[in-house]
Amino acid sequence: MTDSPMPMKSWIAAANDPACDFPIQNLPYGVFSIDGGAPRCGVAIGDRIVDLAECESRGLLDAGGSFARPALNDFIARGRAAWDETRARLTALLTEDGDRTLPTVAMAEATLHLPIRVTEFTDFYASTNHAFNVGVLFRGPENALPPQWTHMPIGYNGRASSVVVSGTDIRRPMGQLKGDNGPVWGPSRRLDLELELGAIVGADSTMGERVGVEQAEAMIFGYVLLNDWSARDVQAWEYQPLGPFQAKALGTTISPWIVTTAALEPFRCAGAERVNPLLPYLQESRPGFFDIDLSWSMNGQVMGRTNYNVMYYSSAQQLAHHTESGCPMRVGDLLGTGTISGPAPDQTGALLEMTQGGKTPVTVNGEARTFIEDGDTIALHGQARGEGYRIGFGPCTGTILPARP
Ligand code: MN
Repeated sequence: MTDSPMPMKSWIAAANDPACDFPIQNLPYGVFSIDGGAPRCGVAIGDRIVDLAECESRGLLDAGGSFARPALNDFIARGRAAWDETRARLTALLTEDGDRTLPTVAMAEATLHLPIRVTEFTDFYASTNHAFNVGVLFRGPENALPPQWTHMPIGYNGRASSVVVSGTDIRRPMGQLKGDNGPVWGPSRRLDLELELGAIVGADSTMGERVGVEQAEAMIFGYVLLNDWSARDVQAWEYQPLGPFQAKALGTTISPWIVTTAALEPFRCAGAERVNPLLPYLQESRPGFFDIDLSWSMNGQVMGRTNYNVMYYSSAQQLAHHTESGCPMRVGDLLGTGTISGPAPDQTGALLEMTQGGKTPVTVNGEARTFIEDGDTIALHGQARGEGYRIGFGPCTGTILPARP
């Protein structure tokens, strides 16, 4: 994607490195603390964090006091005009001729927290490749894609209580697993990741009222990286007929920085080609995806690379479908896109697909893996590549601890 030939620069030198995740074009929001102090809202720029609460107390920004709070929900609830105004003001303060007295802290000295109070978490299933690959493994090639799949976004209501910020350890779950003579109880042996994005809903909707795709798009504040940790053996035994339950409740990791839709706008693009026309309530008037390169690594070795543009349903379509029944959405709702997988094995966003259900091991730093072992660290990476800059998502990592029998 192209922007202007000379990208805008900041007086914070590290932000001008083309390999930096956080140039002045990005300005993602998060929540941080220093030395055990109170968590507050900030914006990442280069190797520093702008202390938005301090900016507000100095009269440099106005967000009704919401930046002093330990989550971004109250700022986000102020609405799109406030988002746009704050972004414009921060851009002016951070350009080369901006305000060099702006209060910032070194990112290396900060502790990053969950950026929002997650009010609800819904996860979808929107990559054709992933849905087909997993469907083949669970039900065979004839029944791989359910008949409704190309007509509506499929999802399930997950748990907000188990969403954690990048860097939080994840405990291998115990569970009921299918044995040769009935179920056995034990630690999951097929622990997996799912490479996803998560859309952050930035406005409430009213119970009983549907939201259209266009309105849904305007309601999305931004996106995070999201790892939907999954216990495949638990999932295979429990998922019919009501869908995943304990297989997905062990934890969901998100990146600490919310990349705004404003920062992603130059990278807007089309998704996968439609197999058949959508019903009118799901049709969109402009492309609803973004050209975001995504990858995941295990213990430092890159395993899979893909792009958000392979997806079949956008977050706006998923949000619109979510309100079809009149279900109200709330600020801080987190909508997982579903696992993002390209067609080739090295483009898949889950080990289940990459190893053909555990039949084809992969090599990680010289060791064979089918699923995730105790002590393994999984990291997700995401970036939209501009001319001379990139919009990065920052880290989204988690390390697996042994089960507690
Ligand atoms: Mn998922």
